[in-house]
Amino acid sequence: MSVNASGWRPEMGDASGGGAVETFTGNRALMLEEPLIFEIGGTARTGVDIDVPAGGASRLGGLERSRPIGLPGLTEPEAVRHYTRLSRQNYAIDLGLFPLGSCTMKHNPRLNERMARLPGFADIHPLQPVDTVQGGLALIHLVGEWLVKLTGMTAVAMSPKAGAHGELCGLLAIRSALEARGDARRVILVPESAHGTNPATAAFCGYAVENIPATAEGRVDLAALQARLGPDVAAVMITNPNTCGLFERDMKAISDAVHAAGALVYCDGANFNAIVGRVRPGDLGVDAMHINLHKTFSTPHGGGGPGAGPVVLSAALAPYAPLPFIERQGDRFVLIEEETAEDHHGDSFGRMVAFHGQMGMFVRAAAYMLSHGADGLRQVAEDAVLNANYVLRSLEDVLDAPFAASGPCMHEALFSDEGMAEGFTTLDIAKGLIDEGFHPMTMYFPLVVHGAMLVEPTETESKAALDQFIGALRSVANRARQGDPALKGAPHLAPRRRLDETAAARKPVLVWREPEVAEAAE
Ligand SMILES: *Cc1c(COP(=O)(O)O)cnc(C)c1O
Repeated sequence: MSVNASGWRPEMGDASGGGAVETFTGNRALMLEEPLIFEIGGTARTGVDIDVPAGGASRLGGLERSRPIGLPGLTEPEAVRHYTRLSRQNYAIDLGLFPLGSCTMKHNPRLNERMARLPGFADIHPLQPVDTVQGGLALIHLVGEWLVKLTGMTAVAMSPKAGAHGELCGLLAIRSALEARGDARRVILVPESAHGTNPATAAFCGYAVENIPATAEGRVDLAALQARLGPDVAAVMITNPNTCGLFERDMKAISDAVHAAGALVYCDGANFNAIVGRVRPGDLGVDAMHINLHKTFSTPHGGGGPGAGPVVLSAALAPYAPLPFIERQGDRFVLIEEETAEDHHGDSFGRMVAFHGQMGMFVRAAAYMLSHGADGLRQVAEDAVLNANYVLRSLEDVLDAPFAASGPCMHEALFSDEGMAEGFTTLDIAKGLIDEGFHPMTMYFPLVVHGAMLVEPTETESKAALDQFIGALRSVANRARQGDPALKGAPHLAPRRRLDETAAARKPVLVWREPEVAEAAE
């Protein structure tokens, strides 16, 4: 990357869209350019002065570093500013509406944050004696009880750390249950519209994955599923509501058919926000389902972690639940940690994580549950569905909505790229939305819709916020329909234009090298 003395990079181009205003610094008012930390700091400089201790003999047995460590040295204010500037180049739920479909990017209530920071929760240590953490265990147990009740299931495993991890937990429980009856089934059926983690998890567990087709109206093809069921099928993984934003109306019939064939039903519960308080998946015959606390229960998605993906289990799978888990014994809570207790939880498939889960996320989810109450959670689902239908109906005249004729959507509105001018794609619309100050919607997922755009507003957006988003998307969609050439170059107002995302993914440059060294290597 080339940066001249002023910090201006050639690729910054003309950000104004009109006459270029070149600044000495490369900054554009409050949009501050930020070079790499290696380009500001020097490997020969240091932010702290500590004398090399005298006379200490190395205890590293000759394994000490022989070359300089090569870390950039910055003063404290330089380091603070570097990271603060980078943080301002990010989009966040606290900055604006985040329409990513399937991700349920809802507001993270500040009450949750207050509770999570109470020292009794925040400073808890996983190796503390159980007698000193009774309140913490009681809270994890409480969240688990709510999840079991809301889903109509028998047991819950609180330790999985994300949705995908929960899928792994559910499939391991299913495999254990099948193995316990000496049944080595090897195939998992997954609908075409499934989230990528579903087939990935099945493959990771050693299963062969086969697709179930969808009907023209965007739901699982029950007849095709029934035709494929047989003694080699271990489970089906179904998302309900599905990733086309539609409720699988035949879910009970699907579960009955799967059970009749001796297999089990995994439900991807990432879309639980659409039905929480209104539908209990246990009543639909589900055997295992993960719940993303960072989606439905408002805990932060937070830059990649920490998440929490508890898994609820039916009576058929409860004996195989992973350890550790919390059990109430009278007015005491105990942590069941041993998989060797033959008479007690001896069938557990084992342990997935070192400890019990993400305490801070459990506290936030508990605060969310208790502050909403049962009626409030029901209203969450109703409002999320109402908001999505408002988006769907407000935009279907400018964006093709392939399943709009199937009736109202659930919590997310799905559009395709049909009707755009020649050469204009979903990607152009996404980049245009960046200029409008929005994070783009989920795109090219689900795969069953060409150029898919999946918009999930969630219940936490006001009508005014929805109207502003709808206006922005309508404007960009119209530009794509009319073939506005400027849209092909969007985003014009962001710190960078279009990046080569394929190259970034396929040939990532993860190590910084001195420019001379890098040039010599080319
Ligand atoms: C988010 C999501 C997942 C995966 O959950 P993570 O917590 O990101 O691992 C799985 N399925 C669907 C439908 C999702 O939206």
